[in-house]
Amino acid sequence: MNILLIGAHPDDSEVVAGGTIALWQKAGFKVTIASMTNGDKGHQTLNGAELATRRKEESLRSASLVNAQSIVFDIPDGELEPTLAVRKQVVRMIRECKADLVITHRPNDYHPDHRYTSQVVQDAAYMVTVPQFEPDVPALRDNPVFMYFMDHFQRPYPFQPDVAVDVDAVMDIKWKLFDAMDSQFYEWLPWHMKTLNTLPEDAEARLTWLEGQWGPLLSGITEQLRPALNQWYSESHTASVRYAECYEISEYGHQPTRDDLIKLFPFLD
Ligand SMILES: [Zn+2]
Repeated sequence: MNILLIGAHPDDSEVVAGGTIALWQKAGFKVTIASMTNGDKGHQTLNGAELATRRKEESLRSASLVNAQSIVFDIPDGELEPTLAVRKQVVRMIRECKADLVITHRPNDYHPDHRYTSQVVQDAAYMVTVPQFEPDVPALRDNPVFMYFMDHFQRPYPFQPDVAVDVDAVMDIKWKLFDAMDSQFYEWLPWHMKTLNTLPEDAEARLTWLEGQWGPLLSGITEQLRPALNQWYSESHTASVRYAECYEISEYGHQPTRDDLIKLFPFLD
């Protein structure tokens, strides 16, 4: 199975799906992590080509920890538009990955780059099967399943957790994916969250600090997700889950049966 995650920025997929990425790697799936922008605004002092180059290297390093392919488009951060040219690039990428499953942001996420990433992926969802559109890259005969990353936005409707994955067993890997992106997790995000003064110097201590910073944020939502987890795991199993990652099925693309979903997420109980 080929899994393609399309985030707007070079750390989006890792934050919301890093555990599932690790589980797919263990299952022998081919995973591609794409970022529609180069992330060149995500820092309090660095910017432009210097930051874009650093973030591309970090994405590669992080992806290599889970044997994933990394693709970073050279579109400036904050400037993504869902144009025909970008739609063509996305159609080509989905075809070249021979994706069975594509996951992206929901269309009403907070950041304009997230919304336009969602728009452009939705615009590509049918066109990947049309041979005369971008005919030099063979069209897919089977339309992939399209899904959305979890978010907390309520309008026009709240996130629907159609698939819920227990990622407790691979959280050590997820923290290492974050750790590989030091410009974000040790510089920009703590600066933005005003916690930079609590960051330790030592590399081992930083990993513990990461878990302390992000653990409550990522586990805080699990209580709400327990009914969704119960759809996929026994209640006795679900009761002890601390970290879960969830996905909503898009109305576009192939509409998966429960059996299809178990093929795409073979680690579901
Ligand atoms: Zn983002």
